[in-house]
Amino acid sequence: MIGAGVAGLAAADELRRRGFGVAIYEARDRIGGRILTHLDARFPMPLELGAEFIHGEAPLTERLLREARLSDYDLDGESWIAERGHFRRAEGFWDEVDRVFDAIDARRKDLSFDDFLAQSPGGKSLARARAAARTFVQGFHAADPAELSTLALAPRNAGEPSEEAARVGRVVEGYDRLAAWLARDLEDDLHLSTPVREIAWEPGRAELALEDGSRIAARAAVVTVPLGVLQAPPEEPGGLRFRPDPPKLRRTLDLLAMGPVLRLVLGFREFPWSDRRDLDRLRFLQTADETFRVWWTAYPLRVPVLVAWSGGPPAGAMSSRSPKEIEAAALRALSQQTGLSRQRIASRLEGVWSHDWSADPFSRGAYSYARVGGSEAAKALARPVEKTLFFAGEAADEEGRTGTVEGAIGTGLRAAKQVRRALG
Ligand SMILES: Cc1cc2nc3c(=O)[nH]c(=O)nc-3n(C[C@H](O)[C@H](O)[C@H](O)COP(=O)(O)OP(=O)(O)OC[C@H]3O[C@@H](n4cnc5c(N)ncnc54)[C@H](O)[C@@H]3O)c2cc1C
Repeated sequence: MIGAGVAGLAAADELRRRGFGVAIYEARDRIGGRILTHLDARFPMPLELGAEFIHGEAPLTERLLREARLSDYDLDGESWIAERGHFRRAEGFWDEVDRVFDAIDARRKDLSFDDFLAQSPGGKSLARARAAARTFVQGFHAADPAELSTLALAPRNAGEPSEEAARVGRVVEGYDRLAAWLARDLEDDLHLSTPVREIAWEPGRAELALEDGSRIAARAAVVTVPLGVLQAPPEEPGGLRFRPDPPKLRRTLDLLAMGPVLRLVLGFREFPWSDRRDLDRLRFLQTADETFRVWWTAYPLRVPVLVAWSGGPPAGAMSSRSPKEIEAAALRALSQQTGLSRQRIASRLEGVWSHDWSADPFSRGAYSYARVGGSEAAKALARPVEKTLFFAGEAADEEGRTGTVEGAIGTGLRAAKQVRRALG
């Protein structure tokens, strides 16, 4: 097993329970991958620097939470828009945007999302909604609309704004506890700080070369490293070489892209707008800022924590900036869009936390999306190679849940089943 994110951990846990001998090799000195929970004594809630939400119905996540005796809660609260110094409610807004997504016709030829929008689905009356839909795919899917496959958004219109808003939950104790639960029995089979550099394989046998030069032989390898790592040149830090490359692997990987995200957690002594009673239930805030268009609070928890979010090309454009510059840009945006003075915001700010997922050699981006022509690429990645190599991880999810924890867990369980069938 390569990688101890939730996909690798779920696969290892399932195979171990079924009596298979499993060893898991993880490059970082911690488990969880793109789940990264930070605790700060000043804030009575875990601060998530990676995954935070449980999106929609997530039966696999829910089952694990129950088994682990962890708890989750649904989010409610109000959506607001802050623009040119004023706050206003954002009612009914997403329903209009959904109508744009509803115009996707799964029987048509694939187009980039930009080309789809250029056909003016919904006509004049949805012009504003189309602009919002474009912003939505950047933020939610971390995607470049000029590259994003419209067909990949078609199945059940997964990832549509209103579906996204339908049910969103959060793990009370922190998402990292879910990863810890999956790893509970792995003990000596879990090897941290052990990057895998190469997988040499032939049908029925895989040999892993570790960074320290040692080699591990196995009957099969389950590869759960992020898409960004699979796409990276093998000689780069974190890079992974296949000997030989599985047939069609490169072509499949080229049809997928890893999207960038900036995610800053701003912890306040009290919210800079705390004197406004009408904003007491503020959960979700949209702004017209070019980079930080989406913000959310900890609501329904009454904890003064605000997340600044940017995804897709606007986040990518900031990639060469230092963390301090990015933080300054977020605070400037908050001030400009809400009309609250920089001094008022700064005087209440207690801390800012983030993780640079794009610069991290073991993620190389936030999560994946399909490029034009790539709506079936996740399925291709999920196909076992000669009963020997099995790919799992959010990018290999076949059920429209890419980019989520639920999807990643699902791929781990699917890979475990494939291994059982192949070796059992
Ligand atoms: C900022 C951000 C916010 C997100 N928000 C949400 C959210 O709200 N809700 C949600 O459901 N999802 C969210 N996601 C997505 C979610 O985090 C991922 O889909 C999920 O955690 C991926 O799990 P995984 O096991 O597929 O990959 P990972 O968690 O990335 O695990 C892969 C593992 O492989 C390891 N690895 C890499 N290279 C090597 C190597 N050469 N050798 C050995 N090990 C290696 C990595 O260190 C890592 O531990 C978010 C992601 C990010 C980055």
